[in-house]
Amino acid sequence: MLFDGIAFAPRSSQRHIAQLDVSQANQLSLRVDGDIISCDLQYADISAPLGKLPVKFIFPNGWVFTVERNADVNQWLVLNKQSSWIDKLETNWLAWIVSAVVCLCAVLIFYCYVLPWTSDKVAKAVPEHIAVSLGDKILEGLDNSWEESKLSVEQQQQIRQRLAQHLTHLEKLPYSIKLEFRASDMGANAFALPGGKIVLLDDMVQLAEGPQQLDSIILHEIGHIHHNHMLKKLVHSSLLSVGVALLTGESSGVIDNLAGLGVFLLSNGHSREAELEADAYARVAMLERYGTSQPLAQILKLLDEQNASDIPEWISTHPDFEQRIQAANEE
Ligand SMILES: [Zn+2]
Repeated sequence: MLFDGIAFAPRSSQRHIAQLDVSQANQLSLRVDGDIISCDLQYADISAPLGKLPVKFIFPNGWVFTVERNADVNQWLVLNKQSSWIDKLETNWLAWIVSAVVCLCAVLIFYCYVLPWTSDKVAKAVPEHIAVSLGDKILEGLDNSWEESKLSVEQQQQIRQRLAQHLTHLEKLPYSIKLEFRASDMGANAFALPGGKIVLLDDMVQLAEGPQQLDSIILHEIGHIHHNHMLKKLVHSSLLSVGVALLTGESSGVIDNLAGLGVFLLSNGHSREAELEADAYARVAMLERYGTSQPLAQILKLLDEQNASDIPEWISTHPDFEQRIQAANEE
């Protein structure tokens, strides 16, 4: 049997039309430019062929012969036990289905268990100064669309003083807390950044009916810092984009810098579990400090009403807020 293909002389990229004679058992003969180059089959290096890629025969003296896949080539490879395990898989549908299921299970286990566990560990291992500078970078990004707070210096000082008092009663936090004030047209909101910075938007201060309601929001943000939610989410998303990049070969997700990703994550809010954890933290702190968690429930209700007027009913997060208000009401 003869295979028609292309041959390359040792260390040369010049193409030669050639034929490979495989009719003799355990021997390969390359016919090229009137010469015949022969070698024992066992000394030839035959590339493990993948799918429809050409097959490559490398002779001990350096000559290379490549041949496109066809039925004859495939049959010869099978007979000479040169087909790769992938080739064998391709002809075995059951193996294909099994490997697809195994892959799917691996992805699910990675997503549901490995990813959250690793995110947790990595977030905990991030040194404080890195978390702080990451938080600063995120704030820098947010400041592109935010403005300076319109609150008076006295007003800001009063809030900071109350925060300082709360901090003396709270158990040690992973970062030292710093309060920042900003104005934005995005509505009443507050954010906890990696590294311990809390940003309070003017509208949130306006919305709160009294200092206790505002304190419960600040304590909720401290709850996010206590649980390190933002950093965990950031690590989680980064690992996920690395995972997706590895699986799909699409690497643009990895290139997204962390700070840019942080801004994106903040604007998309925390998960429901994270919000409930931060609420629970604030509720306990409110009960200890003021003997009631009602102000938390009240401000959540006000936020819910604000959302209801801003966002169409069908995408608003009503059930979540109802659950959160109910939980905050538990004394
Ligand atoms: Zn929150």
